Amino acid sequence: MKQLNDNKTQKEGFVSIRGARQHNLKNVSLDIPRDALVVFTGVSGSGKSSLAFGTLYAEAQRRYLESVSPYARRLFHQMPIPEVDQIEGLPPAVALQQQRGSGTTRSSVGSVTTLSNLLRMLYSRAGNYPPNQSILYAESFSTNTPEGACPQCHGLGRVYEVTEKSMVLDDSLSIREGAIAAWPKAWQGQNFRNILITIGYNVDIPWKDLPKKERDWILFTNEKPQVPVYPGLDRDQVQLAIKQKKAPSYMGTFTGAQKYVLHTFANTQSALMKKRVSEYMLSSDCPTCNGKRLRPESLSVTFAGYDIADISRLPLKRLLTIFEPYSDGSAPSLIKLTKNHQEKALVAQRIAEDLVARVTVLLELGLGYLSLERSTPTLSPGEHQRLRLATQVRSNLFGVVYVLDEPSAGLHPADTEALLKSLDRLKASGNSLFVVEHELDVIRHADWIVDVGPDAGEGGGEILYSGPPAGLKNSARSKTKDHLYNNLPFEKSAVRKPSGWLELNGVTRNNLINLDVSFPLGVLTSVTGVSGSGKSSLVSQVLVELMSAKLGKAPSTEEEEQDVLQQDVVATLGGKITKGAERLKRMVVVNQKPIGRTPRSNLATYTGLFDIVRKLFAATKLAKARHYNAGRFSFNVGKGRCANCDGEGFVMIELLFLPSVYAPCPVCSGARYNAETLEVTYNDKNIAEVLQMTVNEAASFFEKEDRVSRPLKVLQEVGLGYLRLGQPATELSGGEAQRIKLATELQRLSRGNTLYVLDEPTTGLHPTDVEKLQLQLARLVDAGNTVIVVEHDMQVVAGSDWVIDIGPGAGDEGGKVITEGTPAQVAKNKESKTAVYLMRTLS
Ligand code: ADP
Ligand code: ADP
Ligand code: ZN
Ligand code: ZN
Repeated sequence: MKQLNDNKTQKEGFVSIRGARQHNLKNVSLDIPRDALVVFTGVSGSGKSSLAFGTLYAEAQRRYLESVSPYARRLFHQMPIPEVDQIEGLPPAVALQQQRGSGTTRSSVGSVTTLSNLLRMLYSRAGNYPPNQSILYAESFSTNTPEGACPQCHGLGRVYEVTEKSMVLDDSLSIREGAIAAWPKAWQGQNFRNILITIGYNVDIPWKDLPKKERDWILFTNEKPQVPVYPGLDRDQVQLAIKQKKAPSYMGTFTGAQKYVLHTFANTQSALMKKRVSEYMLSSDCPTCNGKRLRPESLSVTFAGYDIADISRLPLKRLLTIFEPYSDGSAPSLIKLTKNHQEKALVAQRIAEDLVARVTVLLELGLGYLSLERSTPTLSPGEHQRLRLATQVRSNLFGVVYVLDEPSAGLHPADTEALLKSLDRLKASGNSLFVVEHELDVIRHADWIVDVGPDAGEGGGEILYSGPPAGLKNSARSKTKDHLYNNLPFEKSAVRKPSGWLELNGVTRNNLINLDVSFPLGVLTSVTGVSGSGKSSLVSQVLVELMSAKLGKAPSTEEEEQDVLQQDVVATLGGKITKGAERLKRMVVVNQKPIGRTPRSNLATYTGLFDIVRKLFAATKLAKARHYNAGRFSFNVGKGRCANCDGEGFVMIELLFLPSVYAPCPVCSGARYNAETLEVTYNDKNIAEVLQMTVNEAASFFEKEDRVSRPLKVLQEVGLGYLRLGQPATELSGGEAQRIKLATELQRLSRGNTLYVLDEPTTGLHPTDVEKLQLQLARLVDAGNTVIVVEHDMQVVAGSDWVIDIGPGAGDEGGKVITEGTPAQVAKNKESKTAVYLMRTLS
């Protein structure tokens, strides 16, 4: 490619970028083709996203918003403008990023793809109504509308009851011994108990010996008596104290236990509290709708023999076989319908055609095992992105640029081929595709490669290559080239021997049915299989839950963030650990769930190193003179933070008709602290400046402070040296969050006998970074631990000691152990879809 040196000429059919300096980009200029698949490559932190999202997408969005309304334009002056001199030839952009720290939503596969809307239309206009029932509007088939929701459960599908049985778990205990399990813990619980003593109840006999009338009042009363409280006194002493007119410690107000549970459940802001009280509620399928969440009238309408709730529970590939005959006109019932109700038949056929076309795209993307009802919080970020991609493929937009973030995440190499087909389709209908990607098969498929590097952060930000794939070969400094052209042959050290086995029996969950499986101990195991085959069900769900139970702990505390109402009820559950659990003392689950859902948590707070940094600031001369303690240097609480933005660093601007946007706080300019706090410096840097440092910068800045530099070093080792200490958790990708958790664990220096469970740890990692990760995993195993990863990256699979391949297909076509053994053994298996790819890497 001839370099462009004239700033003013813009090549036909190209986007020209001049002087890009966003984040670590080093004033780069380049031209990239439109109507092509352009793949941005480079090690993690090299600047790919800063170019694709931070510069190109941000600028496209800014231009679009400026064009829509002068009102918005005024406000957008406060929005950060990408650091770039000039961009020409840029079409409007649509970004499909991995969900970053997505909050809890009520959306489902059906709503994200808008397929549910189509189905509702179909049932409304072309459904089979019972005699004498009038036609229903489409809204009547939605559980989120008053017209559609089941009147008893309000569309939840479940009803909740709070009874004596659910609140009093052991009726041989007295109230003092904790009979009323549903009461709040600690002070509040003692308060209720003391109030009952004042009122005159006996709190020292077994619950079951109290008269029913008393039990009912304590649990179910709506009264809220206010009485004097004398902590520590018994019934008689309290009566005496009242007689003697002794001053009580305070006046306490009583609340019935049932009221407490229901009120807390409905009103608490804390997911943890909500979860706690929900344990004292009995939930069951709603008797009116049988858990289908819709009104009886709506459920009485059928199509092809299914009501809308049943059809939404079928896997998408079944939907296709149901609707195909309607779409091509061959369905007998459609032919019959045409004779009597021609208009209804036409509607049915039109909608069926549309459904078939859209579902076909979803199947091509390897998502045929999903049902419309499946709630999006249970999907992996990769599945979610592919869902949105499929929706775009059918949107008939053209002339736009789609900016994608690692669309291959979560995909088995066999699924990646389907992904490429969809990308080709988007391109063929006249769109441009800018894709940030690490997967070599996607990179090879590119029309144009932009390789950013050579290293991360300050060490990156240069364009090493921009041109058709073949030319990358000649780029001297590209790390991508080495992997793409296989200059580094696979090397495997000796396979480790298991020190024992962890045996699971009768595992039943999602698509796994009565499965027996054994995991080797003391080695690195990869669990493989196409997307939807059941790897996560086996490893991240069943194994983790069974092991937690063995270790006597509730599974991962992160689950508590989920709204209990949104948790899917797991229909079938089964399985137990029959052997080997006693060999494990601890379990660590390193998943891709966000490390926090608010900008208030970040790398520094999560790893705990910020606590030490704050102490260092509190120990400075000026801080001591002003009596600032460590709390002063927190932006979350206290007197140190900026009062205007409450330490958020930005303020939200509400826009009419548009989503709200965030702008830097005008008072602290994003520093998060007030001016007095920022006057305190440690080695000439204030606390806000420290949060602005990258891990690499901080590691040398705190070199002499071992307690700070040690965790930083581990973060560098897992390839996160480029992250800023204060980078909000909401801006981290799932892969970055996972590596932060991994680093936090690694610095704990385990003593062995720990089980590490990781779900696709290579997400977001360039092959060069994958090598670093493998070293870390090997370190864990060599220290006497067991590591189990769910993985698609053949480099990691080939480097493990043991492979368990699940399949053969997805959903009900998967769920079986196809083969297991050393990588070399598995690669020879004829039935395994993984074998061919593994063989390629091994040979
Ligand atoms: P990649 O996409 O190649 O992994 P990024 O473009 O995300 O890399 O990051 C490149 C550099 O820019 C890194 O040093 C990173 O820490 C920095 N960076 C990324 N996002 C931000 C941000 N919002 N603010 C400041 N620096 C950032
Ligand atoms: P993999 O990890 O191999 O991609 P999963 O274990 O996620 O596969 O999925 C296996 C099957 O179980 C799929 O049919 C999927 O739709 C279903 N499944 C997984 N998780 C859930 C869930 N939380 N609720 C309902 N079905 C699920
Ligand atoms: Zn109901
Ligand atoms: Zn502020």
